[in-house]
Order: sequence, then C-alpha cells, then structure tokens
Amino acid sequence: MKTYNVNEKGYYGEFGGAFIPEMLYPNVEELRQNYLKIMAEPEFQKEFNQLLKDYVGRPSPLYFAKRLSEKYNTKIYLKREDLNHTGAHKVNNTIGQILMAKRLGKTRIIAETGAGQHGVATATVCALMGLQCIVYMGEIDIARQAPNVARMKMLGAEVRAALSGSKTLKDATNEAIRDWINNPVDTHYIIGSVVGPHPYPDMVARFQSVISEEIQWQLKEQEGKTQPDYIIACVGGGSNAAGAYYHFLDDESVNLIAVEAAGLGVDSGESAATSALGKEGIIHGSKTLLMQTNDGQITEPYSISAGLDYPGVGPMHAHLFKTGRAEFISITDNQAMTAGLELCQLEGIIPAIESSHALAVFEHKTFKPDDIVILNLSGRGDKDLDTYINHFNL
Ligand SMILES: *Cc1c(COP(=O)(O)O)cnc(C)c1O
Repeated sequence: MKTYNVNEKGYYGEFGGAFIPEMLYPNVEELRQNYLKIMAEPEFQKEFNQLLKDYVGRPSPLYFAKRLSEKYNTKIYLKREDLNHTGAHKVNNTIGQILMAKRLGKTRIIAETGAGQHGVATATVCALMGLQCIVYMGEIDIARQAPNVARMKMLGAEVRAALSGSKTLKDATNEAIRDWINNPVDTHYIIGSVVGPHPYPDMVARFQSVISEEIQWQLKEQEGKTQPDYIIACVGGGSNAAGAYYHFLDDESVNLIAVEAAGLGVDSGESAATSALGKEGIIHGSKTLLMQTNDGQITEPYSISAGLDYPGVGPMHAHLFKTGRAEFISITDNQAMTAGLELCQLEGIIPAIESSHALAVFEHKTFKPDDIVILNLSGRGDKDLDTYINHFNL
C-alpha cells in the first residue's frame, strides 16, 4: 500500500535517514533498535496515557469556533493544544521521551533549545521524574529569552551557554550532540520536533499522534464522522503538524495544509519559508529541505515567532511537500499578528504567534460552507505578550 509514513530504513520518500558522525552511532542505534518495542509495551502505554491525562490534561478539547466560522463561512474546529500543561503541544513529546529514557536506563537528560520552549518542556518532565537535566542554549538566545531561562532554572535544570558560531539554536544543537558523544551510556538526548536522525522524526511523530487519534473520536461525537475535510497546522520543525496529520496521512480525502513563516516576506531575505526557499540538504542528521546558500551554508532564518524560526523542516514534511500531499502556505509576520488578534476578539482565545500563522490561512484561502476545517492551535499566547504589545502598541 502507498504510504506517506516512514519506511523501515527511516525514510519518507527520499528524505530522512541518519547522517551522523560515527561516534554517535551507538547512541542512535540503541534507540533505533528499542523504540518501537518499548512503545508497544502495555506498561509503557499505560504510564504514557496516564500522564497525558492527569498531568498534561488530555484529551485537549476539539472546540467548534462559532464566531470564527461565521466570519469565514465554513465550519472551523480548533484543536486546543494551547490548553495543555506548559501551554503547547511540546509536552506530549517530552513526556514520551522521558519515559523512553527511563526504560533505556538513562539517568541524565540533555536538550537543545532556541527560544526556550522545548527547554522548558524538557526541564518540566525531568523535574517530574527526578532526572538530571542539562539544556544547551545559544548565548544570544539566553540573553533575549530571560523568562524561559528563569523557568528552566526554577524547574531544576542547568542551562549551558553555547558560545560558538552565531550563538543561537544551531550552535546549541552542536553542543548537545558533542555532549551526547561524550556521554553515550547514561544520557538521553530529547529532541524537540520531528527532526534529527532516524528514529527521532518517527518517534516524535508517534508521541504527537495522540492529537489526531483524539480528533478522530472527538469529530465523530460532534459531526458523526471521523474525517475532516481539512487539517491546518503551522510548521517549524513540524511536530504539531505531524501529530495533527498522523492518522489521516494516507487518507487522501483529508486535505492537509502546512503553514510556514514568511517573516518579512518570502523574497525579503528575512524568512523561514523552507518549502518555498529550501533545497535538499542535510541538517541535524537527516536529509530534508533546508534554506541554504549556493555553497550549501545554512541560511539564518527569521520569523517573529521563535518556534517557527528554523531553517529546515522535518523529513516527513519535505516528503509531503515534494509529493504534493500537503499544501504549503507562507504567512508573513504581519498577517499572523492580525489573525492572532482576530482570534482574541472573536473567540476569547489568545494564541501563540506560531499558531497565529495557521489562523491567517482563512484570509488566504476560501473554504466551502459545509467544509469541516480543523486547525491545530499549537500553543497559547502568554509567552508572546511582549511581542503582541510591541506590534500593536498596546
Ligand atoms: C515549538 C512550537 C511550534 C513549532 O514546532 P513544531 O515542531 O513545528 O510543532 C509551534 N507552535 C508552538 C506553540 C510551539 O511552541
């Protein structure tokens, strides 16, 4: 059967794989050989589902947005990942990976973070399990994301500055990889999106797939059928989108829409619109689409939303783009901010700016009145208040 999911070699079509330094091979191979087995264990399933319910607060509601639907003359449901503990979908993955780490006998957790959201989600689950947590973060990001640095420290994590290169996310990732090479036995590296060498993209997609699993039965309750006509999600690395699409990937009656950050405009030189601008290359251990110069140097991305400010997409999304299975739309900073404010005033929900990018699709594309459109509201906007304040002079 034709599938858009990963194959046994870790590829989505031509994308994916594990392009890693030789010294990292034992760590990645240990994970690859064990992750499916561990995830299938009833005890693992039980503990994962229990924590998603009692700690994260799942299932997240599937909310029919009446006033937003009236405005755009279609049926819009919001999948409320913003209501999760810690304010976004990221915790679904970090809960899964901390349980995986424990089953593998690891006692020390490392992670990389850009804006700090994944660092906070990792520090949270390390506190929950009493494991040592070290988060690598670029020196520049530490300076501009002070509240998240404070959160991680309060949660008991050690934040280590990456001082090399541009002192941002990619340098933090390099430091984390270096750490993992030096500590192969006791350490697990929690990656925050559907990126990195196989099996990470598949493992993270499976942990996030709780989103589409819930959508199926929630939509059945409300509309009498399990499949929507459209699913819209923003894409940084691609984990919230992968989770929202997962159970619908091979059902082509469900249209998938992926929303990227166009920053100041796709052609402005200041964007993170990977599908529009990216070429094939290797980043963080997998073959995918990434923004690069003609010589193959990775281009610094830009977006007003920290979570979309990433120069690549995960291999699943590169494949969905290449095959045309998903429609990719780029949204600028201004369009996203306007759409975010509109949700506040039509529905009383302040969205994360990442999610606001997805919301801006309604100004771009017309849906039919009886279309059922599900938008994955990946996070809440509390963390973005300063950006909203500055943008709208509030
Ligand atoms: C991190 C983040 C994203 C982007 O990450 P994906 O892996 O693409 O989902 C989107 N929304 C929010 C709220 C985030 O915190």
